[in-house]
Amino acid sequence: MELRKDPITRSWVMTGDDPGDAGSRPDAPCPFCSDSSLHVIAKTPNTPGASWSARSVVHPRPLYHIEGEPGRRGDGLYDRMQSVGAHEVLIENPNHDRHLWKASDEDIAHFLRLAAERILDLKRDPRIKYVSLFKDYGPNAGQEFSHPTSQLTATLFVPRRVLYELRAGREYFVGKERCVFCDIIQQEERQAQRVIEVRGDYLALGPYAPRVPYETWILPRNHDSSFERTGLNKPGLRTNLAALLRRTLQRVRTVTEDFHLVLHTSPSSLHPSKNLGYWKTIDDDYHWHIEILPVVPSKAKSYNFKEVYYSPVSSETAVRQLREAKIEG
Ligand SMILES: [Zn+2]
Ligand SMILES: [Zn+2]
Ligand SMILES: [Zn+2]
Repeated sequence: MELRKDPITRSWVMTGDDPGDAGSRPDAPCPFCSDSSLHVIAKTPNTPGASWSARSVVHPRPLYHIEGEPGRRGDGLYDRMQSVGAHEVLIENPNHDRHLWKASDEDIAHFLRLAAERILDLKRDPRIKYVSLFKDYGPNAGQEFSHPTSQLTATLFVPRRVLYELRAGREYFVGKERCVFCDIIQQEERQAQRVIEVRGDYLALGPYAPRVPYETWILPRNHDSSFERTGLNKPGLRTNLAALLRRTLQRVRTVTEDFHLVLHTSPSSLHPSKNLGYWKTIDDDYHWHIEILPVVPSKAKSYNFKEVYYSPVSSETAVRQLREAKIEG
């Protein structure tokens, strides 16, 4: 597999002829429940009754490898490079069945703190431009492991969707000297039509123009470009962000089990890229957030065509339903 850049959108894709997945058997014991053969990178402090609460390991079949040279080179007008970077599995919980929506807020806070630590650590590598944290849950979302896990990739480029957001955030800032996400939050709080829940310094909302039905974002209400800073320094992580994430996932699960979750945070600004230029005002023009994209199979047929996103449930309706959903507390 190698990385190729689309010269039109300037986004990188991973492509090649995959030899297939020979590593996992359905009856194999869970690799994350036992300690054997795991290359543990980091873990959260010990908690009573358990030797760890969340920890990060090297992905058993990594898409990106830390060793080697990217060997970036031109091919006429095209660009290609090897998939150098990092690929980790964040084990959210030692307990095989305790997924984020069932975990204690303490456990979720440990997981969030570990994610922040890993992102910060990977960004110290001068080659790394961006660190992605994502979670795919359910067979229709491409879930890879049954254990409660998220994954983290550190790449030498900024992934496509984040790149669009960074460019748009900077353009809005150049015109208005304000953060577009802060403006969205202010308007949504004022209109109160698409806000699902406010909890301390965080809120969950249904975006004005959803890509899929029940799309949900979680954002800090006060401006902050970097999740790592919040994850490591801000008070209220456990009582507010962890609880809001757990409660929001419970709400989403009243609609469908399957979802994609992705964290969007600022790129590494240690080594700015001159031609992209968007690092100059990054602290002011970008605003970290979590996106939850539920997969609703019964509605899938109509919005499968991604040239124009088609979401047959409005956010106003979705938010009303999610707000009123019976959740556990
Ligand atoms: Zn397990
Ligand atoms: Zn902002
Ligand atoms: Zn985003």
